[in-house]
This record gives sequence, C-alpha cells and structure tokens, in this order.
Amino acid sequence: IQEKPTTEVRTTCPYCGVGCGVLARVAADGTVTVRGDTDHPANFGRLCSKGSALAETVGLEGRVLYPEIGGKQASWEDAINLVAQKFSQSITEHGPDSVGFYISGQMLTEDYYVANKLMKGFIGSANIDTNSRLCMASSVAGHKRAFGEDIVPGVYEDLDEADLAVLVGSNLAWCHPILYQRLVSARQKRGTKIVVIDPRRTATADECDLHLPIRPGTDVLLFNGLLAHLASHNLLDRSFINSATSGFEEALALASADASVPEAVAKGCGIPLADLHLFYELFIATDRSVTVYSQGVNQSAHGTDKTNAIINCHLATGRIGRPGMGPFSVTGQPNAMGGREVGGLANQLAAHMSFENPQDVDRVGRFWNAPNIARKAGLKAVDLFRAAGDGSIKALWIMGTNPAVSMPNAGQVRAALKSCDFVAVSDVTRTDTTRYADVFLPAASWGEKNGMVTNSERRMSRQRPFLPVPGEARPDWRIICDVAARMGFAGAFAFDDSAAVFREHAALSAFENAGQRFFDIGTLDEMDGEAYDHFDPSHWPMPKARPAISRLGGDGFFPTADGRAHFVPVRQEAVALPTDVAYPLALNTGRMRDQWHTMTRTGRVPRLMSHVSEPAIDMHPNDAAARDLVDGDLAYVTSPYGFARAKVNITDAQRPGEAFLPMHWSGYFAANAGTGALSTPICDAFSGQPELKHVPVKIVRE
Ligand code: SF4
Repeated sequence: IQEKPTTEVRTTCPYCGVGCGVLARVAADGTVTVRGDTDHPANFGRLCSKGSALAETVGLEGRVLYPEIGGKQASWEDAINLVAQKFSQSITEHGPDSVGFYISGQMLTEDYYVANKLMKGFIGSANIDTNSRLCMASSVAGHKRAFGEDIVPGVYEDLDEADLAVLVGSNLAWCHPILYQRLVSARQKRGTKIVVIDPRRTATADECDLHLPIRPGTDVLLFNGLLAHLASHNLLDRSFINSATSGFEEALALASADASVPEAVAKGCGIPLADLHLFYELFIATDRSVTVYSQGVNQSAHGTDKTNAIINCHLATGRIGRPGMGPFSVTGQPNAMGGREVGGLANQLAAHMSFENPQDVDRVGRFWNAPNIARKAGLKAVDLFRAAGDGSIKALWIMGTNPAVSMPNAGQVRAALKSCDFVAVSDVTRTDTTRYADVFLPAASWGEKNGMVTNSERRMSRQRPFLPVPGEARPDWRIICDVAARMGFAGAFAFDDSAAVFREHAALSAFENAGQRFFDIGTLDEMDGEAYDHFDPSHWPMPKARPAISRLGGDGFFPTADGRAHFVPVRQEAVALPTDVAYPLALNTGRMRDQWHTMTRTGRVPRLMSHVSEPAIDMHPNDAAARDLVDGDLAYVTSPYGFARAKVNITDAQRPGEAFLPMHWSGYFAANAGTGALSTPICDAFSGQPELKHVPVKIVRE
C-alpha cells in the first residue's frame, strides 16, 4: 500500500512564552505527529514535555462544534445576532462603558487586533482586558516607567552568552523549560553561574550556584541593597548613567534609606549575610549579567516596583541591550507580547501608543476612521469582573480564557458571571466559565488557526493550520468581525483573511511613525498573502534593515520624552495581606512542569497527568507537624476569600510558615482545588496585577 504523501507544517507551540517552533504532520490515516523545528531560533528543535505531547491534544474530545444559546444548539446567525443585539442595547441604554471584553494571551495577534479595534475604536470604551493582566502587567508598567514604552531589551541569545544568570521569581526549569535548557547548556559550555532568587527551592534551584530563599515580597529590598552596594563600592557605570539615564541620585537616595546596610538587608530578606554578599559579589564581578524575572516578581501588590528595582541595577551598571546582559522579563503565555503590541490591555492603545498622549489617541482614531475612539483607560481585569458583579457592566464577552477559576477571589467572579445581564463566551471546549454563558461561540483551536504570535524575546512567528476547522467552529477574529458587522461596523471589519488583519495592524504600527516610536513594523505594511504565509520568525520591532538579533537600549536611546532611561525610586513595602493568628501561613501559587493553565488541554493527556496527578499542597515539616498532618493527608486550606482541598506534601523545599499550591486544578478536574478561590484580588496600584503569590491561609486536616 502506497502511503499518501504528507507535508510538515511549520507552526508554533501554543503553551508558553518561549514560543518554540513546531513541525506538525498529518498522516494519511489522520494521525498527527509533532517534532521540534530545528530551524526555529527559539528552540532549535527542542520541545519540552508539554510541547512534545501536542499531538495528543488535537482530538475532538470535549470540543464544542456548534454555537449554543442558553445551552442549546443554535445557528451562527442567531448567536451572532444575539451578541450584537445585547451589546448594542446596553451601549444605547447605558453607554459604552456598560460593556466589556475579557480576552486571552492564547489568542493570536489578529484576534487581539480586531477585538481591540472593535472595543476601543467603534464601541468607544477601553473596557477590554486580557488574562495577561494576571501574568506580566507589572513588567509592562515597569518598562513604561523606565523606558517610556513597554520594551523588553533582551533576546534569548543573552542566556547563551551570559556569564551570570540571576533568576528572580522564576521556576524556569518548569515554566520555560526550553529557555532553561539553553541556560544549562551555556553553563556546560562557558560555566555560566546561576543564582536563583525564590522563596521555594524549586527544580530550577537544582542547577544553581546560589539559591536565595528570600522572604516573600522582599525583592525590592534585595535589589535596592544591591544598588546601594554598587554605589558605596564605586562600581557604577558613570558614563552610561550620565549619558543615557536620568533620576539616578533620587533612586539611590531612596534605596540607601533602608538598604544601605547589608546586615539589615539580609535580615529583612531572611537569608544568611554570607549568601547576600556572595550574590552581590557575583553581580559586581560579572559584566555579562542577565536578570530573568517572571511571575514571582509580577504577581505582587508591588510588582511594578520590583521590576524597577531590578532595572535600576542594570541601568546603574550599563548592563542593558548588550550581549549577555540586561533585565529580561519572560512572559507566561504564547502571545502575551502580541497582545501588548496591539493594545490588548485596558490601559494601552494599539501599537504601543498611550491614552496619556492625546496625539496618540487622535492618531489611532484617524487611522481607524473610528466613529467613537475611547479616550481613557478602561477597567483592568479585577475591576472588570467587579463591575460585572455590581451591575455596571451589563454585557461581557469572554474569549479563550477561564476566569471562573483563574481569577483571584474566583467565588466572587463566579457570582459576578451569574448575575451579569449577558455573558458570551468564545472557547474551544466547555470550561468552568462556559457554565455561565448565555451564548457559546465555538472557536477554532491550535492546529486549525492561522495567525501570528510574539514570544518573550519579541520574536514573531506564525501559527499555521494543519487540520480542518471542525464542525461550525470559526477563528476568533472572524467571530469578532461578524459581531462588529452586525453592530453596524461592517466596513471597518471587512477582512478577507487573517493576513489582511495583520497587514492593517502592521500599517497602524507604521502610521505617522518616522522612527520616533520604537515599535515600527512599517516594512510589513505591504505584506501580501504569500509573504505572510512564508513569514520566518523575526524580531519585532522590525526596521527596514532587519538585524538577525535585535537588542534594545544598548545604543543608549530610549523612547522617553528626554530620550533617556529613567531610574525609578522605589522602596520596600509590606505584602498586601500579612499572615495573622487566624491565617498564619503564607500561600504561594504557581505551575507544575507538565500542566498548562486550568488544564483544559494538558489535562487530557495521560502521560502529562502522570507527573503530578492530583493537587497537593507543599508544606514545611515543622508546619505539618504543628498541625498533626502527615504526607498524603487531605487538608482543608482556607483564606479570607475561600477554601480549597488538597493532599499534603511535606517538603523542606518550603520555607517554614509558607505553603505552595499549584494553580491548575479546577472544578473540571478536582472539586474545590482552585487557587483562584483562595487568592486575593488586591492589586499593584500601577499595573493592576493581583498579588497571586502571597495570601494568608490556615491549613487543617479535613
Ligand atoms: Fe511549548 Fe513552552 Fe515547552 Fe517550548 S518551552 S515546547 S513553547 S511549552
């Protein structure tokens, strides 16, 4: 029997911000296989456990293939009409701010673009936020304060070329496994030193020279101490400070106020003085230092300050935008960065323009020929669901995300979804959130969709389809355009395909941008369908002379009003909610190696489930003994917001007084195990990102 020839399709993994290239093949019998793309510059052929199992997630099990109204199958015509009618009615009766979109870092850039255009340009509100708010909004705010725009200066090659990697609040080994493999490989080749700063001794700390298990939330103190130490030992790059920055003296003065004495810093951070000195000496001695930070920094009531405390140290040493050095925020989701490019956050405009600049608002409005351009920032995620609960948001459209379990204070979010007048949900499967949908809109999934994603190093890659779209599912951008047309905006949303959407996004980025804004992708505005189809992974922004590697800031230019990077004075603040007698343990939350988000995809793969098959709460032996708990006991975890159940896992990887619960399990996979139910909705004042890494809890035997 002659096998039907098959071709491999170059696409991108949909799980995390590393953005690995994947080659997908469909055999004649329909069997799908995947392997790493050796030509993709993010992974050079490697895939982690999740990426390797992608082929096992593309089946139709659990998919919803037809629109539903009130839980019953309906036609697209009726579903689209109902969504358009409910949104239009609410806007007419209560104004544009009475509606909201909550979207997702899983969506492709084209999906993000049209959702943003509809809400901000045509509905006339900025009440569109994304689950990226829970992931890296503090880094965005920190970048804007320091650099003027949301710039990630570094690239992945910096991990290959660093002599010191400082990993802050990042379990890179599990959460960005291919980046971790690149780092370990650099360590084997050039002896890169690794410092892990994390209250937990994670898998990442297995391969490090120094682990600093700092007290949760004391990152600002640690890095302010480093800044003060650099200054007191005359180890600053005065030339860079003088030529390319402003605000150094103010930042140093505030840092020195409480962090000039190493003994006080070590005590405040809860680490041995000798280890603090070792970290500072390593940083001082190593020009090629890269500081990689992630959710442990961002998911904090002071995440923006933490980001700036890290950036301050790199500016003070001139270690930015050059090989092997720089502050480097790595994102959790595959297209958080693409969302940032098109203004997916409630406080951003498209193409990194800003509500704070009236010229930007005017420019975006003119480009879109928008009848009703939003002129102020909208509600960020926590406030958006609060508004749905108090009745001020009357129509809400949730796309590709599961806030009923992933949002903090999830019990309140579920109550808000229940009471909201109208909820539409676009997704590929049923989730805890779809239970609250008045209308379900079946979306195309990975392997069926066509579009662009941007990874943590600003590299755009294509997600390409290799499977037919099943049933009546549709790509998200198409669903959004259909609703927009039904709301009376057909002309502005008459895109033939995803390439046409991307072309418009590229043209907007280039519009009236003669290089004064960093994010210029003007060379793409003429991109035809073929160029789009054959697009090779490329760094963005994308100037005409396209360099293979595109670091930012190394030339000393930053897109601030004065062209300089800004030191931001920051001081150590307390966590939002300290532990007390009623809730004596500090709960941290995070990811497991083989799971993704609320497990709607990875939870269907037996071999991924075999790594950790049920939710377990990590506790220090002393804390377990004090509660008469032993390994495997079922524990009842209560916070001021809700409760969860989990098995006890006793480990000295936890600091005494602290516990850790994975974020993945939800109602679909284990009753009452979601961390969202426990987490606090208290947010960082600048970024609106909630403090998911610290909530006071009590733990008792069930
Ligand atoms: Fe996918 Fe991230 Fe794993 Fe790469 S590291 S294969 S992008 S989950």
